[in-house]
Amino acid sequence: MPELPEVETSRRGIEPYLLDQKIKSITIRQHKLRWPVPKNLPELATGRVIRAVSRRAKYIYLELENGTIIIHLGMSGSLRICTDKTPAEKHDHIDIKVASNKVLRLRDPRKFGCVLWAKGDVGQHKLIKPLGPEPLADDFTAEYLHKKANNRQCSIKSLIMNSHIVVGVGNIYASEALYRAGINPKRRAGNISLPRLEKLVASIRLTLQLAIKEGGTTLRDFTGINGQPGYFSQKLLVYGRDGKTCSQCGEMIKQFTQHARSTFYCTVCQR
Ligand SMILES: [Zn+2]
Repeated sequence: MPELPEVETSRRGIEPYLLDQKIKSITIRQHKLRWPVPKNLPELATGRVIRAVSRRAKYIYLELENGTIIIHLGMSGSLRICTDKTPAEKHDHIDIKVASNKVLRLRDPRKFGCVLWAKGDVGQHKLIKPLGPEPLADDFTAEYLHKKANNRQCSIKSLIMNSHIVVGVGNIYASEALYRAGINPKRRAGNISLPRLEKLVASIRLTLQLAIKEGGTTLRDFTGINGQPGYFSQKLLVYGRDGKTCSQCGEMIKQFTQHARSTFYCTVCQR
């Protein structure tokens, strides 16, 4: 599943081809994505200029003067830039063609992604409104997390993976950030001191920033045939490393299942 760093890399990859471009046409080959693609999307967006290509959580926004096209990649979606001469393949569901004749093409084999329209303030859209702060934004602080963790019985891992608390911290990045912060993923969220949460917030930011940086170096070419971001070949410290040794203390990395997701941690370094 594309995580926040992959989505941010996709956004950066497509932005130069779309920014300030007028939409010439929209082709919808498959309406049945996670939610139906609005039938009148071509009518609403054609002839409009893309004023910004932005991101909120794992949603990419194409901001037009009369509304916003919201794109989510779901489980298997990917975006690439091609031309209308590039034949569409089986899972290429949507094309957005701009004045330069470049085409933004959404491929989504499992069809869990979405392409929606929000008129007016996109922040009020029902998918967007309940979301917590961005992990890389200034409003995501240790004080904020401390307040949200207060009296909560859930584990710290499930707290930081809750998109109402903070968006975009997926399973891999949660494990990695907790390791960097030296916090046991099972620890009760309401039972962690402010200084330790400060370390955690910094670790979440660092983990995501490193992945975004890695994405930038591995994905220079967004016009390539596949345009498949996939997972970056970043160096993971604990995720997927069960049975291997911890780089800090030499102990074996352990794996266990937490809320149906795999968690990896070091029993010595994480308390
Ligand atoms: Zn260790």
